[in-house]
Amino acid sequence: MIVTLREGADLNRVKHALAERGLWVRPLLGGPHAQLLVEPHSAAVTRDALLAVDGVAGVSAPASEHPLVDAQPRTVRIAGVELGHGARPVFMAGPCSVESEVQIESLAARLAPLGVRFLRGGAYKPRTSPYSFQGHGPEALRWLRAAADRHGLGVVTEAMSEEAVDVVAAAADLIQIGSRNMSNFSLLRAAGRTRRPILLKRGMSATVEEWLSAAEYCLLHGAQAVLLCERGIRGFDPSTRNLLDLGAVALLSHVYKLPVLVDPSHAVGRRDLIPALSQAALAAGACGLLIETHDHPGAALSDGPQALLPEQLAALVQSCESREAPAQEPPRAAAGRG
Ligand code: PEP
Ligand code: MN
Repeated sequence: MIVTLREGADLNRVKHALAERGLWVRPLLGGPHAQLLVEPHSAAVTRDALLAVDGVAGVSAPASEHPLVDAQPRTVRIAGVELGHGARPVFMAGPCSVESEVQIESLAARLAPLGVRFLRGGAYKPRTSPYSFQGHGPEALRWLRAAADRHGLGVVTEAMSEEAVDVVAAAADLIQIGSRNMSNFSLLRAAGRTRRPILLKRGMSATVEEWLSAAEYCLLHGAQAVLLCERGIRGFDPSTRNLLDLGAVALLSHVYKLPVLVDPSHAVGRRDLIPALSQAALAAGACGLLIETHDHPGAALSDGPQALLPEQLAALVQSCESREAPAQEPPRAAAGRG
């Protein structure tokens, strides 16, 4: 339930009065009509009992299953970079896996001058086969952080397990939750507790509502912000690796006004189509792109066929930056309805 305060009401007194009734509340909106979200595990209290609290103007049920997601600001600032509606598209690039100290340093040096703002690279890799390269773990996190710092980049890297979430949070500006883990609720809770912003990839067969509820887990447990990342869903046609759902990107960006990025690399799985999909993603309303880049794709330990060379990424960034600004937006609609 959402409790709206009377103008001028003392927020702390209302919080205290609600807590005395066994309710756990967290701030939802500030300003003259501040709102508090009553957390679901609170004691059962009737609507009338809430309305009787001094300072409470109204009580309503949330419009959707994910009120914290709905209340997220349209733009967020992470590692000094503005992301979201109206901000310039943000490029996050780097190898699928951090393979060595030399590799990540040389890529960071080549990517930073192109306008890339976040260095990506997996230290913990979710691989279909247990015999495939699984990532260099904590060592890779150190290499990634040091390379990013040397070149003024933010770090985005995946946390695959609850045990590793703190070490990932210590190295990352943005914790990636991968597609295979979007519904790993204990990992979402643990990632939220680090208070870091989270890049939440869409599960391969998750609906938009399931994805937004996963984002709600992260925010409810403390994440500073959640950026959604569409990376393709399972289609029926093996011609491309996955099926990039640009309709969902447009819906999230234009109707729900949420920050959404696109990862064309995992969506299409082949480097020649990445520039076209990147343009399409930005046209659909993506606020940024996550693109796998490698200086020797033929020798990559994972996902070589979809990796761009730095010079190919340079051309892509240039072509994306010369796009026209999008037209005027319609007003925000509550997510989860219609
Ligand atoms: C990745 O970004 O390297 C990755 C494994 O992504 P996804 O979870 O989208 O497959
Ligand atoms: Mn990959």
